[in-house]
Amino acid sequence: SGNIIDGRAIATQLIERIGQQVANLTAAGQRPPGLAVILVGEDPASQVYVNNKRRACEKAGIVSKAFDLPPETTEQSLLALIDQLNNDVTVDGILVQLPLPAHINQELVIERIDPSKDVDGFHPYNMGRLALRMPVLRPCTPKGIMTLLETINAKVRGSKATIVGASNIVGRPMSLELLLAGATVTTCHRFTQDLAAEVAAADIVVVGAGKPGLVKGEWIKPGAIVIDVGINRLPSGKLVGDVEFEEAQPRASWITPVPGGVGQMTVATLIENTFYTATELHGLHQ
Ligand code: NAD
Repeated sequence: SGNIIDGRAIATQLIERIGQQVANLTAAGQRPPGLAVILVGEDPASQVYVNNKRRACEKAGIVSKAFDLPPETTEQSLLALIDQLNNDVTVDGILVQLPLPAHINQELVIERIDPSKDVDGFHPYNMGRLALRMPVLRPCTPKGIMTLLETINAKVRGSKATIVGASNIVGRPMSLELLLAGATVTTCHRFTQDLAAEVAAADIVVVGAGKPGLVKGEWIKPGAIVIDVGINRLPSGKLVGDVEFEEAQPRASWITPVPGGVGQMTVATLIENTFYTATELHGLHQ
């Protein structure tokens, strides 16, 4: 069907474009951008995400430095590694894969990253800049969704947007991005009284709750754009989002599939952010 947003293809194009720009840098005798990817422990989903990120770096010609640390890694030694990477001039981005083991204070770790290397955009400095309409580094999933909306020429300014989910990594920064782009934004979460009505009022619906089938197809306003961030593994092994795709798709003007939608864009946007820090913040020039 023509109304499926092909996140995989759009992400591939973005990574290829960055790859070309990296090739221009190195052809001019400059070092390639570098990304440090830190994984603590052996969570299988986190291992998959980290491998995807490292593979995308390779495709774009970005040097990825792998730090796979054992689950018993202390907070102190993780902070020491971040200090070392903050001071390493060949490292433009530092990514700490979340969640961290329970004995490590996640906020402390995120705040330790040099904001100019915070390619995930989770440091309070970067989140604050986005909230104050002066974005520098922007969280990858919401920024990638803004790229998808641009690619389909979505009219965001003046639209009604409903976000389902208010987490620090998805819902909250997504709300800030859409607000910055001129939408009238409603942010829903587990205490929202009438989710159906909030979704039905929206021209743009972004769902990131981690609940398969949470958003019913019949709630979607005809012609709305539906962005499904959810990644859920069913007992059958099938991967699905948070939206009833089959029922929502005929009503939507555009919709993202799971897999092949937002997930790929998140990784491509990490690559984009790493190139940005290298060139705009750390002096490599195009
Ligand atoms: P989270 O658990 O931190 O947050 C979930 C949010 O959904 C919370 O704000 C909660 O209040 C809200 N919520 C839960 N039940 C609800 C309900 N019944 N009605 C309304 N709101 C409800 O999760 P997260 O880290 O934000 O991730 C959300 C989903 O997105 C997960 O499936 C995750 O795997 C996926 N995810 C995908 C990507 C990607 O790149 N595609 C990136 C990050 C997360």
